[in-house]
Amino acid sequence: MADIRLQRISKVYHAKSGAARAVDDLTLAAADRELLVLVGPSGCGKTTILRLVAGLEEPSAGDILIGGRNVARVSPKDRDVAMVFQSYALYPHMTVYKNLAFGLKMRGAARGEIVQKIGEVSRLLGIGHLLDRKPESLSGGEQQRVAVGRAIVRRPQVFLFDEPLANLDAGLRVRMRSEFKTLQRDLMTTMIYVTHDQEEAMTLADRMAVLKDGRLQQYGTPLEIYHRPASRFVAGFVGTPMMNFLGGTLEGDGRACWFNGRVGRWRLAMPRAEGLNDHLGRAVVLGIRSDDVHVADRAAVAAAGGAGARGSGSACGTPGGPNDMGADPSTGEPPYPTLEMAVRLVEPLGFCTLVHVATATGEPLVARAGAEFACPPGGCVAVRVDLRRAHLFTADDDGRRIN
Ligand code: ATP
Repeated sequence: MADIRLQRISKVYHAKSGAARAVDDLTLAAADRELLVLVGPSGCGKTTILRLVAGLEEPSAGDILIGGRNVARVSPKDRDVAMVFQSYALYPHMTVYKNLAFGLKMRGAARGEIVQKIGEVSRLLGIGHLLDRKPESLSGGEQQRVAVGRAIVRRPQVFLFDEPLANLDAGLRVRMRSEFKTLQRDLMTTMIYVTHDQEEAMTLADRMAVLKDGRLQQYGTPLEIYHRPASRFVAGFVGTPMMNFLGGTLEGDGRACWFNGRVGRWRLAMPRAEGLNDHLGRAVVLGIRSDDVHVADRAAVAAAGGAGARGSGSACGTPGGPNDMGADPSTGEPPYPTLEMAVRLVEPLGFCTLVHVATATGEPLVARAGAEFACPPGGCVAVRVDLRRAHLFTADDDGRRIN
């Protein structure tokens, strides 16, 4: 068993078209027996990182430690690492049994040991009935199982998985995802798993690393990243549907902070801490997940004082409300801004309904309603925004979190 540590790793590829920095000064760790998921858009360097750990590429700078041993310049066969490729890379001319046996044979394992280990792995993965078949006669899911079997049969200290579920259809993908999680628990081995699918990353990871352009954007547990994204990029990449973003300015009056945008002027439910003070008067982006934008009873709009959006009025032609949403005089708490919005699209998901709405100024939001929600496009709904769970980011390219 072993932990994996990448210390200030960079990888520059030299191609005819010029140098490409695929990994840029990356420091990252997977603890012993942990499942670390690398996630990010295409080209962010995920596969390169796996290939560096496997020894299929040499880093341009930095160190890679497996179980405390620096392997940055150790050959792949001496790293005790197994990698499963997206293509599965099974030997097409060999039966499943021979595919599973190959790595053990190459390491000089005795016949008895090979038979016993293949027996164990086929039972674990449910592939005992496939041992005499050739890869071409297997379904995608079966090939995937055999590829995993070939990696685990020799019990290396580290497993590396490069998008192993990418070629499967949606249903099988979700099923295999759960199997994967169980397998990792059973094997209790350190794993690095690469995917571009943030939902897969969230469901599988003990910890995940979000990458962009070869650089680490955030590293933490799935829930830490979901609830406290470090930047607008991470906030937009992690979570379905994508977080809503609204542009505006941050204002403060000595007691509280306000978000002032085209959508309205909203008192924020966050203290005027140091971090926010530095941004007063500046352009910011307010992020709010659709989980925190609720479709409410239309009576709530009237109760909250109308549309509540300065300059925007109601999206549905009813009279506008007060210019801004201040503290509730009875409790001193910031209210939930409640606005009347036009429905653009309704997406029933079975367990809930996503309602795409727009303000009078055309700002789009995705809200969440109950499973039974029904409203034709062009209709109107009242939408309540729970600002207690709002995120604030800088409006520049960095999009850094400021609250
Ligand atoms: P995907 O999700 O599409 O597989 P990825 O996140 O795994 O992408 P990598 O395959 O690691 O990304 O590639 C990272 C960057 O390095 C890309 O810009 C890619 O074009 C470049 N790259 C990868 N391999 C090479 C190579 N052998 N020579 C030159 N550039 C390369």
